[in-house]
Amino acid sequence: MKTPKNTETRTWPGAIPLESLYTAGLGGQVFFKALKERGEIVGTRCASCKQVYVPARVFCERCFAELSEQVTVRPQGTLVSFTFSNFNRDAQPLARPQALALVRLDEASTVLLHYLLKVTDPTQVSIGAQVKMVIKPKAKRTGSILDIEGFVLA
Ligand SMILES: [Zn+2]
Repeated sequence: MKTPKNTETRTWPGAIPLESLYTAGLGGQVFFKALKERGEIVGTRCASCKQVYVPARVFCERCFAELSEQVTVRPQGTLVSFTFSNFNRDAQPLARPQALALVRLDEASTVLLHYLLKVTDPTQVSIGAQVKMVIKPKAKRTGSILDIEGFVLA
C-alpha cells in the first residue's frame, strides 16, 4: 500500500443548515395530551408482566408485549434519587444550584426525572422522601414536559 504524499488536511469553511422535528411517539402523545388538556399523568400497564410505564409507551420494555391499557396515576410518589446541578443545559453557571429529582410515582414501575422545587441544599432532602408533582395551571400548559413544574416535598 502506498502512503499518500500530500497528507495536508484541506478545509473549506461553510455551514449546513439543519432542522429537525422530534415527535413524542404514540405513547408520548397520549401522555402529553392528557397532561395538557386535563392535567393528568397517564401511563400504560402491561397486561402480561404488570409493569406500569409513565409516561405511556406502546410496548413493554421487559416482555415486548403491546401496551393498550392506559392508566391515570396520582401525581405523588417517592424520591428515588436526587442531585444538584451548578450548570444549565448549555453548561453556563447557574446563580444558585438547581435540584433535580428522580421520582417513582406511587402507581408506576418507572421513574421520572424533573426539577425538585423549593430545595436549596442537600441537607433538606433525603432518598425515600414523599413528593408531590406540581402541574402548571391549564392556561399555561403547552403539551410539554415543562407543563410539570417539578416536585415538592410532601
Ligand atoms: Zn410486560
